[in-house]
Amino acid sequence: MTRKQKKMVGRIVVAGALFIALQFAPLEGVGKLCTSLGIYLIVAYDILIKSAKGISAGQLLDENFLMAVASLGAFALGVCDGSGDFNEAIAVILFYQIGELFQSCAVSKSRRSITALMDIRPDYAHVEKDGQMNTVSPDAVPVGSVIVVQPGEKVPLDGIVEQSDSALDTSALTGESVPRAVHPGEEVMSGCINLRSPLRIRTTRAFGESTVTKILQLMQEATSRKSKSEQFITKFARIYTPIVCGAALLLALLPPVVLLTMGHPAAWTTWLYRALIFLVISCPCALVLSIPLSFFAGIGGAGRASILIKGSHFMETLARARVAVFDKTGTLTKGVFEVLAVHHSPYSNEQLLQYAAAAESASTHPISRSLRVACKHPLAPSCVSDVEELQGLGVRARVENHRVAVGNSKLMEQEGAKALPCHCVGTIVHIAIDHTYAGHVLISDDLKPTSVLALSRLKELGIKRNVMLTGDNQRTAEEVAKQLAVDEIHFELLPVHKVEHLEQLMRTNRGHVFFVGDGVNDAPVLARADVGIAMGALGSDAAIEAADVVIMDDDPLRIPLAISISRRCLRIVRQNIIFAVGAKAVCLILGAVGLANMWFAIFADVGVLILCVLNSIRAMYNK
Ligand code: ADP
Ligand code: MG
Repeated sequence: MTRKQKKMVGRIVVAGALFIALQFAPLEGVGKLCTSLGIYLIVAYDILIKSAKGISAGQLLDENFLMAVASLGAFALGVCDGSGDFNEAIAVILFYQIGELFQSCAVSKSRRSITALMDIRPDYAHVEKDGQMNTVSPDAVPVGSVIVVQPGEKVPLDGIVEQSDSALDTSALTGESVPRAVHPGEEVMSGCINLRSPLRIRTTRAFGESTVTKILQLMQEATSRKSKSEQFITKFARIYTPIVCGAALLLALLPPVVLLTMGHPAAWTTWLYRALIFLVISCPCALVLSIPLSFFAGIGGAGRASILIKGSHFMETLARARVAVFDKTGTLTKGVFEVLAVHHSPYSNEQLLQYAAAAESASTHPISRSLRVACKHPLAPSCVSDVEELQGLGVRARVENHRVAVGNSKLMEQEGAKALPCHCVGTIVHIAIDHTYAGHVLISDDLKPTSVLALSRLKELGIKRNVMLTGDNQRTAEEVAKQLAVDEIHFELLPVHKVEHLEQLMRTNRGHVFFVGDGVNDAPVLARADVGIAMGALGSDAAIEAADVVIMDDDPLRIPLAISISRRCLRIVRQNIIFAVGAKAVCLILGAVGLANMWFAIFADVGVLILCVLNSIRAMYNK
């Protein structure tokens, strides 16, 4: 509980106790009025201040105003009708505050569970400098420093392991519960927990750019962006409150006047009382509070399942999605290629791989990584210059004074080298040296184990079409498409063509298309789609920026899960709207015709609020 909440509990307990004591106190007249007023102020002062501030800021008529008018009105009634009964006035505000407190605890609970799952912010870093160890705040560590992470500590900054093998608990980042082994030369992300032996890490990013900071920022943004339903509620409240106040005023004035003109007694207090009840019941807090809370809880629940959703708006779109578009490499396949064979080369296999790996030395594409791994005796980095990466085509570089191009057949065309086709199925990396064809390397990539299941789940969820867009060649694309049973494929695409195909699909399925990519050269498509989902993209800044949803582990099954979570969250939102509006409507009618007294109004209001809040919290727990 926060300090504010504790203070509120204190006020409620004190006022509640005094309220009960008041029932037995032998007080009459002015004495009773003053005591009641005192108790009232203990619980109500902040509401009175807030509504006064609201009035002076020109924002009349919010729920604070409604409650202030209703409770002060009830006081006035107690004075006017001479009953000296101020219980209702106190009770209205007391129960309203209990409802508010309850709701604020629910919000902080779901916020806590989001931050707990995001409990990755490191507090310190041990920096090694001139053989000395200093413990400093992570944001004071310059890039390129050496830090030491002891077992049990969080890795404070992104970097590369310099010394010792260990295992990392990456569960806070990826949801993966199996520890990941790390060895010297490997990259580690901040936010992981070191499990075994002390690690020396050379940092590659400042704290502001590190993975932890990125994720924390993302979660913060996620909960501040508003969805359409939320915007609707804000607008709704803006029209609703004045209407309700107007109606209450009419209810207080019109019937007595009509009664008078018809020659009956006016019964002013009866109608004033009904108008006040009407005001209490009509307070829209259940709606105004529970809808953002539902989305908030939904985003938190998704986060626990390794799915970062950047805003409730994307939940709405995901829930309605009809067409799924996938990138192939690294998204549906592992993106870890194995070199199978080298064909048609006048060079020795090793020599060709040396040239290819050297030209690829600076690329982050999965293909280049695998070529580098396959090359047993790499050339010295000094042999390579003028590296040029061509998105969707390959790379060009100068290696030992030869112009080397490594990529697909389109790149070979550009180079003026005649690529020979391959009779095997697989991704083919052609190599041209000095504009002359120098053979190709056949590499293959496996499907991720859950890709098939993920796509069939999507179908079960009512996704009409699964589409695959790839830069790879036709044979590989068709082979993968057959295994996955996708409905539509487009192959040999450059990143711009991927955007064109996506736009085509978006024209016929407006607002219902999501794209899933791994962030390697598909950031434009990620950004363009109705919802862009980046997979296992924690390393890639561009993807985190461009995507609307980030899947923290690589698992394609998270996509159908994200859709079901979104749908469930929206169902809960809808239930709350229907329940709150329905309950209010019934109570308003009962209040207007005099079948409900103030007590009923209070319990209806707080009850509806509590039920809606409880229902919202369900969105945090995925089945
Ligand atoms: P995908 O759409 O399947 O993810 P990409 O758009 O990343 O594929 O790449 C498309 C094709 O371009 C690859 O299949 C490969 O032939 C070629 N290519 C791209 N980058 C490289 C690279 N760094 N080295 C070699 N070939 C590459
Ligand atoms: Mg790709």
